[in-house]
Amino acid sequence: TRSFPLMTPRVTTQTSQSGNASYFKVLVLGATGVGKSSITQQFMTSEYVAFDNSMDRDEEENTVSVLLNGEESTLECTDGLDPEYDLEDFRADAYIVVFSIAHRDTFVAATNILNELLYDIGTDRTTILVGNKADLVRKRKVTTEEALDVALQYDAKYTETSAALNHHVDELLVGMLSQIRFKLNPTLP
Ligand code: GDP
Ligand code: MG
Repeated sequence: TRSFPLMTPRVTTQTSQSGNASYFKVLVLGATGVGKSSITQQFMTSEYVAFDNSMDRDEEENTVSVLLNGEESTLECTDGLDPEYDLEDFRADAYIVVFSIAHRDTFVAATNILNELLYDIGTDRTTILVGNKADLVRKRKVTTEEALDVALQYDAKYTETSAALNHHVDELLVGMLSQIRFKLNPTLP
């Protein structure tokens, strides 16, 4: 892995991989066991997911439609990156980098991933650092403040979730979509 902290980001000008303004790709990254699959599954059952679409959504592809501010967007969530893939070859519209607040090593891993994203992708894409397992209060090994600090360094947002309790997962989904839209068109309200 590359050294920490910051390196100069490469400027990227690529548009959405799908080419469709309302179809977005989301890549969920993070160490094993931090809750990537749990969060992705919670996304699929979110109350924000448009009803019609949730009925015939593709279970395999983890694709959902979300209705936000009267506008529907389709999000295709990829749960983890296959080892044969290079991060820079997977162009997503948003990257969710998950760690467990109860496992310090996963926070270090998340920081390394943020560093890799910055170097390979730049900062034009939505990036969200997620401290999952927030329910494990007494086992907490990473403070909110230091996680916020790291997120700030990488031009990422930060939020804490509990996929186990389905706490703040909806907010993550909707906040991510808002951020994707904002990055595409900063002049919109
Ligand atoms: P992944 O390897 O990143 O996909 O992680 P998983 O989603 O498979 O979760 C790994 C383990 O952590 C499973 O036993 C989950 O039930 C558990 N887990 C996931 N999210 C949470 C959470 O928010 N709190 C707690 N306490 N456990 C969680
Ligand atoms: Mg998994």
